Amino acid sequence: MYHGFVADRKFCALLLTIDEAIAARVKALGCPWCSGRLDRADYPRKPRGGSIAAAGEEFDTRISLCCSREGCRKRVTPPSVRFLGRRVYLGVTVVVASAMAVADRTAAAIRAATGIAPRTVRRWLAWWRTTFVASPFYADASARFVPPVKKEALPASLVARFRQSRFSDSEAAPTASVPTGIRGKVLATLSWLAPCTTESFAVPCRPRGANGARFLEGGWRHAEVGTGGVRR
Ligand SMILES: [Zn+2]
Repeated sequence: MYHGFVADRKFCALLLTIDEAIAARVKALGCPWCSGRLDRADYPRKPRGGSIAAAGEEFDTRISLCCSREGCRKRVTPPSVRFLGRRVYLGVTVVVASAMAVADRTAAAIRAATGIAPRTVRRWLAWWRTTFVASPFYADASARFVPPVKKEALPASLVARFRQSRFSDSEAAPTASVPTGIRGKVLATLSWLAPCTTESFAVPCRPRGANGARFLEGGWRHAEVGTGGVRR
């Protein structure tokens, strides 16, 4: 299913567009601590994409915001569809390489398909099945999958549950540019994962009754697959 998957320049440009749209929504809300104005204060990044997302290695910043109010100055890093936490590798690379490795178990096959050291990919697989499934984000977000996602086949079992994403915010991305097939499924997965890509954002916002997913509402939504699919 993933054979020959490449996050090309167009796909990566779309990821950036989505990240900008998410950041704009977060900025509009103001500082979660003091309601002060949030200004851009991006982090420098040097991400790696492997052979899956070489085009994404040009992303040299992660969008971040900083409160402008003296005495607060807290940082808020919006959810991202490009960066999965502080990992060096891009989110699309981690998701696709891990999903490939669920089926391709030999080291040679993993290296040939991803351009990444097999031990790195296996470490990611272990992360999906232990740390990720034990996270509050997963407990909350995965409860909406009926039937449950198979943990032992993550993240392939997760990607398989989405249909292509659709974009309802025509200002941020024209519908014509929305990818279909496996690329659409991967994009939907990245947008589903976006709220868990930042700690600084999720924590202060939780008391307001959200984990960050609401910033994708009105923008990227997940089309679901399977019996019952994802309840909204
Ligand atoms: Zn503040």
